[in-house]
Amino acid sequence: MKCLGIESTAHSFAIGIIDDKGKVLFDERSIYKPPLGKGIHPREAAQFHTEHATNVVKNALKKVKDIDVISFSQGPGLPNCLQIGASVARYLSIKYKKPLIGINHCIAHIEIGKLMTNCKDPVVVYCSGGNTQIIAYVGKKYRIFGETEDIPIGNAFDVLAREIGLEMPGGPKVEKLAKKGKWVDLPYVVKGMDLSFTGIVTQCKKLHKENVKKEDICYSFQETVFAMLTEVTERALAHTNKEEVLLVGGVAASHRLQDMMKVMCRGREAKSYSVPDKYAGDNGVMIAWNGILAFKSGQKMKIEDTNFIKDWRTDDVDVTWLK
Ligand code: AMP
Ligand code: MG
Repeated sequence: MKCLGIESTAHSFAIGIIDDKGKVLFDERSIYKPPLGKGIHPREAAQFHTEHATNVVKNALKKVKDIDVISFSQGPGLPNCLQIGASVARYLSIKYKKPLIGINHCIAHIEIGKLMTNCKDPVVVYCSGGNTQIIAYVGKKYRIFGETEDIPIGNAFDVLAREIGLEMPGGPKVEKLAKKGKWVDLPYVVKGMDLSFTGIVTQCKKLHKENVKKEDICYSFQETVFAMLTEVTERALAHTNKEEVLLVGGVAASHRLQDMMKVMCRGREAKSYSVPDKYAGDNGVMIAWNGILAFKSGQKMKIEDTNFIKDWRTDDVDVTWLK
Protein backbone atom coordinates (compact mmCIF):
# COMPACT_ATOMS: atom_id res chain seq x y z
CA MET A 1 0.00 0.00 0.00
CA LYS A 2 1.24 3.50 -0.89
CA CYS A 3 0.12 6.84 0.49
CA LEU A 4 0.72 10.30 -0.96
CA GLY A 5 0.86 12.96 1.78
CA ILE A 6 0.58 16.71 1.36
CA GLU A 7 2.05 19.20 3.85
CA SER A 8 1.17 22.93 3.74
CA THR A 9 0.70 24.22 7.30
CA ALA A 10 3.21 27.09 7.10
CA HIS A 11 6.41 27.69 5.10
CA SER A 12 6.55 24.39 3.17
CA PHE A 13 4.47 22.95 0.38
CA ALA A 14 5.66 19.38 0.36
CA ILE A 15 4.62 15.98 -0.96
CA GLY A 16 5.89 12.65 0.28
CA ILE A 17 5.01 9.13 -0.82
CA ILE A 18 5.71 6.16 1.44
CA ASP A 19 4.66 2.51 1.46
CA ASP A 20 3.27 0.56 4.39
CA LYS A 21 6.70 -0.96 5.11
CA GLY A 22 8.01 2.57 5.77
CA LYS A 23 9.98 2.85 2.50
CA VAL A 24 10.15 6.46 1.27
CA LEU A 25 9.40 6.57 -2.47
CA PHE A 26 9.19 10.33 -3.03
CA ASP A 27 10.02 13.45 -1.02
CA GLU A 28 9.90 16.95 -2.51
CA ARG A 29 9.57 20.23 -0.62
CA SER A 30 9.27 23.78 -1.83
CA ILE A 31 9.98 26.19 1.01
CA TYR A 32 8.88 29.82 1.23
CA LYS A 33 11.59 32.07 2.66
CA PRO A 34 10.46 35.45 4.01
CA PRO A 35 12.50 38.51 2.98
CA LEU A 36 15.53 39.29 5.22
CA GLY A 37 14.43 40.71 8.56
CA LYS A 38 10.79 39.56 8.21
CA GLY A 39 8.72 36.64 9.53
CA ILE A 40 6.33 34.43 7.52
CA HIS A 41 3.57 36.48 5.92
CA PRO A 42 0.59 34.05 5.72
CA ARG A 43 -0.83 35.46 2.49
CA GLU A 44 2.55 35.53 0.76
CA ALA A 45 3.35 31.99 1.93
CA ALA A 46 -0.01 30.81 0.53
CA GLN A 47 0.69 32.60 -2.76
CA PHE A 48 4.06 30.84 -2.89
CA HIS A 49 2.37 27.47 -2.32
CA THR A 50 -0.17 28.16 -5.07
CA GLU A 51 2.66 28.89 -7.51
CA HIS A 52 4.70 25.80 -6.61
CA ALA A 53 2.03 23.17 -5.90
CA THR A 54 1.46 22.16 -9.53
CA ASN A 55 5.10 21.28 -10.13
CA VAL A 56 5.47 19.27 -6.93
CA VAL A 57 2.24 17.35 -7.69
CA LYS A 58 3.38 16.65 -11.29
CA ASN A 59 6.76 15.35 -10.11
CA ALA A 60 5.11 13.12 -7.50
CA LEU A 61 2.66 11.57 -9.95
CA LYS A 62 5.43 11.08 -12.53
CA LYS A 63 7.56 9.20 -9.97
CA VAL A 64 4.92 6.91 -8.44
CA LYS A 65 1.87 5.81 -10.44
CA ASP A 66 -0.13 3.46 -8.21
CA ILE A 67 -1.15 5.46 -5.13
CA ASP A 68 -3.74 3.84 -2.81
CA VAL A 69 -4.50 6.64 -0.34
CA ILE A 70 -4.12 10.42 -0.18
CA SER A 71 -3.53 12.30 3.08
CA PHE A 72 -3.01 15.97 3.92
CA SER A 73 -2.10 18.19 6.85
CA GLN A 74 -5.52 19.27 8.12
CA GLY A 75 -4.18 21.45 10.97
CA PRO A 76 -2.99 23.15 13.07
CA GLY A 77 -1.45 25.85 10.91
CA LEU A 78 -1.92 29.10 9.02
CA PRO A 79 -5.42 29.08 7.42
CA ASN A 80 -4.30 30.57 4.07
CA CYS A 81 -1.65 27.86 3.75
CA LEU A 82 -3.79 24.96 5.04
CA GLN A 83 -6.41 25.84 2.43
CA ILE A 84 -4.00 25.18 -0.45
CA GLY A 85 -3.01 21.69 0.74
CA ALA A 86 -6.62 20.74 1.49
CA SER A 87 -7.78 21.87 -1.96
CA VAL A 88 -5.02 20.01 -3.81
CA ALA A 89 -5.73 16.88 -1.74
CA ARG A 90 -9.47 17.00 -2.46
CA TYR A 91 -8.83 17.49 -6.17
CA LEU A 92 -6.46 14.50 -6.34
CA SER A 93 -8.81 12.33 -4.30
CA ILE A 94 -11.76 13.05 -6.59
CA LYS A 95 -9.79 12.83 -9.84
CA TYR A 96 -8.10 9.52 -9.01
CA LYS A 97 -10.98 8.12 -6.90
CA LYS A 98 -8.75 7.45 -3.88
CA PRO A 99 -9.66 7.70 -0.20
CA LEU A 100 -8.71 10.97 1.53
CA ILE A 101 -7.57 11.35 5.15
CA GLY A 102 -6.86 14.56 7.10
CA ILE A 103 -3.85 14.30 9.41
CA ASN A 104 -2.86 16.29 12.50
CA HIS A 105 0.48 17.93 11.71
CA CYS A 106 1.89 17.60 15.25
CA ILE A 107 1.09 13.90 15.48
CA ALA A 108 2.62 13.32 12.04
CA HIS A 109 5.90 14.72 13.44
CA ILE A 110 5.66 12.17 16.29
CA GLU A 111 4.85 9.16 14.09
CA ILE A 112 7.65 9.84 11.58
CA GLY A 113 10.02 10.21 14.55
CA LYS A 114 8.96 6.82 15.90
CA LEU A 115 9.31 5.19 12.46
CA MET A 116 12.77 6.62 11.79
CA THR A 117 14.26 5.94 15.25
CA ASN A 118 12.39 2.74 16.06
CA CYS A 119 11.44 3.94 19.54
CA LYS A 120 8.14 2.62 20.85
CA ASP A 121 6.40 4.73 23.49
CA PRO A 122 8.33 7.92 24.15
CA VAL A 123 7.79 11.21 25.90
CA VAL A 124 7.93 13.43 22.82
CA VAL A 125 9.50 16.86 22.76
CA TYR A 126 7.96 18.55 19.75
CA CYS A 127 9.87 21.76 19.22
CA SER A 128 9.65 23.67 15.97
CA GLY A 129 9.13 27.11 14.46
CA GLY A 130 5.38 26.89 15.09
CA ASN A 131 4.96 24.57 18.10
CA THR A 132 6.47 23.63 21.46
CA GLN A 133 4.81 20.75 23.29
CA ILE A 134 5.87 17.92 25.61
CA ILE A 135 3.59 15.02 24.69
CA ALA A 136 3.03 11.40 25.73
CA TYR A 137 0.54 8.70 24.75
CA VAL A 138 -1.61 8.07 27.82
CA GLY A 139 -5.24 6.91 28.03
CA LYS A 140 -5.72 6.46 24.26
CA LYS A 141 -4.67 10.01 23.37
CA TYR A 142 -1.46 11.91 22.76
CA ARG A 143 -1.69 14.15 25.85
CA ILE A 144 0.09 17.47 26.21
CA PHE A 145 2.04 17.57 29.47
CA GLY A 146 3.61 20.97 28.94
CA GLU A 147 3.70 23.64 26.26
CA THR A 148 4.69 27.20 25.52
CA GLU A 149 2.50 29.93 26.95
CA ASP A 150 3.56 32.39 24.27
CA ILE A 151 5.83 31.92 21.24
CA PRO A 152 7.23 28.55 20.07
CA ILE A 153 10.90 27.87 20.86
CA GLY A 154 12.03 27.82 17.19
CA ASN A 155 10.29 31.15 16.68
CA ALA A 156 12.18 32.50 19.74
CA PHE A 157 15.47 31.46 18.07
CA ASP A 158 14.38 33.16 14.84
CA VAL A 159 13.28 36.41 16.53
CA LEU A 160 16.51 36.58 18.51
CA ALA A 161 18.54 35.92 15.34
CA ARG A 162 16.73 38.69 13.46
CA GLU A 163 17.29 41.15 16.31
CA ILE A 164 21.04 40.58 16.36
CA GLY A 165 21.43 40.52 12.58
CA LEU A 166 21.77 36.78 11.83
CA GLU A 167 20.25 35.05 8.80
CA MET A 168 17.12 32.89 8.82
CA PRO A 169 16.47 30.24 9.94
CA GLY A 170 18.03 31.52 13.15
CA GLY A 171 18.53 28.28 15.11
CA PRO A 172 21.64 26.95 13.34
CA LYS A 173 23.29 30.42 13.31
CA VAL A 174 22.66 30.89 17.05
CA GLU A 175 24.04 27.38 17.71
CA LYS A 176 27.24 28.21 15.81
CA LEU A 177 27.90 31.51 17.63
CA ALA A 178 26.99 29.94 20.99
CA LYS A 179 30.07 27.68 20.71
CA LYS A 180 32.29 30.73 21.32
CA GLY A 181 30.16 32.38 24.02
CA LYS A 182 30.33 32.88 27.79
CA TRP A 183 27.52 32.98 30.34
CA VAL A 184 25.45 36.11 31.04
CA ASP A 185 22.40 36.03 33.33
CA LEU A 186 18.97 35.62 31.71
CA PRO A 187 15.48 34.98 33.12
CA TYR A 188 14.50 31.29 33.44
CA VAL A 189 10.75 30.92 32.94
CA VAL A 190 9.10 27.57 33.76
CA LYS A 191 5.55 27.81 35.12
CA GLY A 192 4.42 24.43 36.41
CA MET A 193 4.86 22.34 33.26
CA ASP A 194 4.58 25.27 30.84
CA LEU A 195 7.24 27.48 29.33
CA SER A 196 7.52 31.11 28.31
CA PHE A 197 10.11 32.53 25.92
CA THR A 198 9.17 36.14 25.10
CA GLY A 199 10.67 37.70 28.26
CA ILE A 200 13.98 35.94 27.62
CA VAL A 201 14.07 37.23 24.03
CA THR A 202 13.30 40.77 25.28
CA GLN A 203 16.17 40.59 27.77
CA CYS A 204 18.50 39.39 24.99
CA LYS A 205 17.48 42.37 22.84
CA LYS A 206 18.31 44.67 25.77
CA LEU A 207 21.73 43.06 26.23
CA HIS A 208 22.40 43.47 22.49
CA LYS A 209 21.65 47.22 22.73
CA GLU A 210 24.08 47.38 25.67
CA ASN A 211 26.75 45.92 23.35
CA VAL A 212 27.02 42.54 25.09
CA LYS A 213 28.79 40.19 22.63
CA LYS A 214 26.49 38.25 20.26
CA GLU A 215 28.34 35.05 21.12
CA ASP A 216 27.55 35.46 24.83
CA ILE A 217 23.89 36.23 24.13
CA CYS A 218 23.54 33.17 21.87
CA TYR A 219 25.28 30.86 24.35
CA SER A 220 23.23 32.01 27.33
CA PHE A 221 19.97 32.00 25.40
CA GLN A 222 20.53 28.47 24.12
CA GLU A 223 21.59 27.10 27.51
CA THR A 224 18.60 28.70 29.22
CA VAL A 225 15.78 27.69 26.88
CA PHE A 226 17.08 24.14 26.42
CA ALA A 227 17.49 23.71 30.19
CA MET A 228 13.85 24.79 30.60
CA LEU A 229 12.72 22.26 27.99
CA THR A 230 14.81 19.49 29.56
CA GLU A 231 13.46 20.18 33.06
CA VAL A 232 9.84 19.85 31.95
CA THR A 233 10.64 16.73 29.89
CA GLU A 234 12.23 15.09 32.93
CA ARG A 235 9.11 15.72 35.01
CA ALA A 236 6.90 14.27 32.22
CA LEU A 237 9.15 11.16 32.15
CA ALA A 238 8.90 10.76 35.92
CA HIS A 239 5.13 11.24 35.88
CA THR A 240 4.40 8.82 33.02
CA ASN A 241 7.06 6.23 33.94
CA LYS A 242 8.12 6.03 30.31
CA GLU A 243 11.63 4.99 29.33
CA GLU A 244 12.21 6.89 26.10
CA VAL A 245 12.46 10.52 25.01
CA LEU A 246 12.02 11.49 21.37
CA LEU A 247 12.95 14.91 19.94
CA VAL A 248 10.98 15.96 16.84
CA GLY A 249 10.45 19.21 14.89
CA GLY A 250 13.05 21.55 13.39
CA VAL A 251 14.74 22.43 16.71
CA ALA A 252 15.46 18.69 17.28
CA ALA A 253 18.38 19.25 14.86
CA SER A 254 20.24 21.13 17.64
CA HIS A 255 23.19 19.10 18.91
CA ARG A 256 23.20 21.01 22.19
CA LEU A 257 19.56 20.09 22.86
CA GLN A 258 20.24 16.45 21.92
CA ASP A 259 23.19 16.37 24.35
CA MET A 260 21.22 17.87 27.24
CA MET A 261 18.41 15.35 26.77
CA LYS A 262 20.95 12.51 26.64
CA VAL A 263 22.54 13.57 29.94
CA MET A 264 19.12 13.89 31.60
CA CYS A 265 18.01 10.47 30.27
CA ARG A 266 21.22 8.78 31.42
CA GLY A 267 20.42 9.88 34.97
CA ARG A 268 16.99 8.25 34.72
CA GLU A 269 18.08 5.12 32.84
CA ALA A 270 15.94 6.22 29.93
CA LYS A 271 16.93 6.35 26.24
CA SER A 272 17.04 9.51 24.19
CA TYR A 273 16.24 9.61 20.47
CA SER A 274 16.17 12.36 17.90
CA VAL A 275 14.44 12.27 14.52
CA PRO A 276 17.07 12.34 11.70
CA ASP A 277 17.72 15.93 10.51
CA LYS A 278 16.19 15.16 7.11
CA TYR A 279 12.75 14.54 8.70
CA ALA A 280 13.00 17.09 11.53
CA GLY A 281 11.48 19.98 9.57
CA ASP A 282 8.06 19.96 7.92
CA ASN A 283 7.78 17.38 5.14
CA GLY A 284 5.22 15.40 3.16
CA VAL A 285 6.61 11.97 4.09
CA MET A 286 5.41 12.34 7.70
CA ILE A 287 1.88 13.17 6.51
CA ALA A 288 1.96 10.17 4.15
CA TRP A 289 3.17 7.81 6.91
CA ASN A 290 0.45 8.95 9.30
CA GLY A 291 -1.99 8.49 6.38
CA ILE A 292 -0.91 4.84 6.13
CA LEU A 293 -1.35 4.32 9.89
CA ALA A 294 -4.77 6.01 9.96
CA PHE A 295 -6.08 4.27 6.84
CA LYS A 296 -4.93 0.81 7.93
CA SER A 297 -6.67 1.30 11.27
CA GLY A 298 -9.96 1.88 9.45
CA GLN A 299 -10.19 5.68 9.21
CA LYS A 300 -12.31 7.01 6.35
CA MET A 301 -13.34 10.58 5.58
CA LYS A 302 -16.08 12.16 3.52
CA ILE A 303 -15.05 15.06 1.32
CA GLU A 304 -17.44 17.30 3.35
CA ASP A 305 -15.34 16.60 6.45
CA THR A 306 -12.04 17.70 4.96
CA ASN A 307 -12.13 21.39 5.88
CA PHE A 308 -8.95 22.52 7.60
CA ILE A 309 -8.91 22.86 11.42
CA LYS A 310 -6.57 25.74 12.20
CA ASP A 311 -6.26 25.13 15.97
CA TRP A 312 -6.53 21.32 15.96
CA ARG A 313 -5.13 20.24 19.35
CA THR A 314 -2.87 17.20 19.65
CA ASP A 315 -5.05 15.80 22.46
CA ASP A 316 -8.23 16.08 20.34
CA VAL A 317 -7.07 13.49 17.80
CA ASP A 318 -8.47 9.94 17.73
CA VAL A 319 -5.36 7.79 17.69
CA THR A 320 -7.06 4.78 16.08
CA TRP A 321 -3.77 3.11 15.08
CA LEU A 322 -2.36 2.62 18.60
CA LYS A 323 -3.68 -0.07 20.89
P1 AMP B 1 10.11 23.56 11.55
O1 AMP B 1 9.18 24.64 12.04
O2 AMP B 1 9.84 22.23 12.16
O3 AMP B 1 10.24 23.51 10.06
O4 AMP B 1 11.58 23.94 12.07
C1 AMP B 1 12.19 25.18 11.81
C2 AMP B 1 12.67 25.82 13.10
O5 AMP B 1 13.75 25.05 13.68
C3 AMP B 1 13.21 27.23 12.90
O6 AMP B 1 12.61 28.07 13.85
C4 AMP B 1 14.71 27.08 13.14
O7 AMP B 1 15.33 28.25 13.66
C5 AMP B 1 14.75 25.94 14.14
N1 AMP B 1 16.06 25.27 14.17
C6 AMP B 1 16.66 24.59 13.17
N2 AMP B 1 17.89 24.16 13.55
C7 AMP B 1 18.07 24.58 14.83
C8 AMP B 1 19.14 24.49 15.79
N3 AMP B 1 20.29 23.87 15.48
N4 AMP B 1 18.96 25.07 17.00
C9 AMP B 1 17.80 25.68 17.31
N5 AMP B 1 16.77 25.83 16.45
C10 AMP B 1 16.89 25.28 15.22
MG1 MG C 1 6.10 21.40 12.04
